[in-house]
Amino acid sequence: MYKVLVSACLMGRKVRYDGGAKTSEHPVLERWRAERRLVPHCPEIAGGLPVPRPPAEIAGAAGAEAVLDGAAAIVTPEGADVTDHFVAGARAALETAWSQGVRLAVLKDGSPSCGSRAVYDGSFSGAKVPGQGVTSYLLSDSGIPVFTEDELDAAEAFLKDLEAREPEVPFL
Ligand code: SF4
Repeated sequence: MYKVLVSACLMGRKVRYDGGAKTSEHPVLERWRAERRLVPHCPEIAGGLPVPRPPAEIAGAAGAEAVLDGAAAIVTPEGADVTDHFVAGARAALETAWSQGVRLAVLKDGSPSCGSRAVYDGSFSGAKVPGQGVTSYLLSDSGIPVFTEDELDAAEAFLKDLEAREPEVPFL
């Protein structure tokens, strides 16, 4: 059975920077949970950051690719450079996906790790720009499509289509 990587905060785990969760009770997630498809993961925790922690944004809205290339940083409002934690968390998410048979991901939008449609612009003003977080970018660049928590119906359609096209070979 194909697995789905999911942001741990969407599953009710209190791993966000402010110590909270962003629990989703969407029926698709409930169904996948019952089917034991879900692989909850928090890249920022996997990258060694604590709960709670300062918020962080991609400096200058430079983009996730620039961060992964070492050409841009992820910083806190006080200017601390936390890039290494975010990059380590992204790599850990990809390793987890590969090791668990994950074929798609549902990640919390807006995060400098998990965002896939928009991220904050680096000004800590609440403004967003189109773009991806570093984990989302690394997964999608590695062939694992990423959907937001608002795209679960599309994610389910993608999974059904995938399983129709590529049914898993039973273990003999
Ligand atoms: Fe949720 Fe992702 Fe932020 Fe972790 S890094 S708290 S999983 S949005």
